[in-house]
Amino acid sequence: MKTFDHIIYETPSEHVGRIVLNRVQTRNSQDTHFLYELNEAFDIAAQDDEIKVIILAANGPHFSSGHDLRERNGVEALKQHRTVGTWCGFSCAGAEAQMSREKELYIGLCERWRNIPKPTIAAVQGRCIMGGLMLVWPCDIIIASEDAQFVDYATSFGVNGVEYLAHPWEMGARKAKEFLFTCDSMSAAEAHRLGMVNHVVPLAQLQDFTLTMAKKIAMKPLFALKLAKESVNAMEDVQGRVAAMNTSFAMHQLAHTHNLKLFNMLLDPSGLPPETAKTLGLAAPRSNS
Ligand code: ZN
Repeated sequence: MKTFDHIIYETPSEHVGRIVLNRVQTRNSQDTHFLYELNEAFDIAAQDDEIKVIILAANGPHFSSGHDLRERNGVEALKQHRTVGTWCGFSCAGAEAQMSREKELYIGLCERWRNIPKPTIAAVQGRCIMGGLMLVWPCDIIIASEDAQFVDYATSFGVNGVEYLAHPWEMGARKAKEFLFTCDSMSAAEAHRLGMVNHVVPLAQLQDFTLTMAKKIAMKPLFALKLAKESVNAMEDVQGRVAAMNTSFAMHQLAHTHNLKLFNMLLDPSGLPPETAKTLGLAAPRSNS
């Protein structure tokens, strides 16, 4: 079985593959290496004909704190890996390198995982922040523990939302706007009420509940599962999901470029409490003068 630095891949039951985020010391924050390891684990599960269902789980009290903002040289980090999309220009000047990086690493990988032709189930506990949403939303089914919390701080950072802007598809247009405008955390119960989460269970039962469902799904013929998934995904896609998300992604790049011009960084630090900005390694908030 392949071993990774930040990911565990295991087969807890016949026909079930389980990918576990295992970078607990940083609350499963995602840097370039982490994301490529996760992608490789998905590839292993997807390409193994014995595996019918893939679980995405996380060790530690929190599912994921999102992208690792401490990674300062993303271009160099990207050079250490073989890219999996067809985009290029990762070292180019201007806005091009950032767009290339986010196209490959964020919306590109998320879309890739969303289209894996096998059922995927996310098991989410604790905090699931920004980039964390981009790991669970591409999954077909989401099981949350009662303590799970979902949040996107992007508008506080001066950006329209995370790179994989699936919010309206996940929670409906009005709630998506409230979620983005306020940056309030959404509870597991609320996410369940809105249909973003399939089931909410006590934390102690999260992994067993998820595995039981995976085993039930794994009893079905894989080709039928694959076609069922493709059928539902096609419904979203003919409604314009991909085109809408690509438009949101372009606006996300505009926001990064805007922030670079104004603050010399990709994010606007002014919307964050000073202690949060400091924790995230961002500059002190600008004065409004
Ligand atoms: Zn971005």
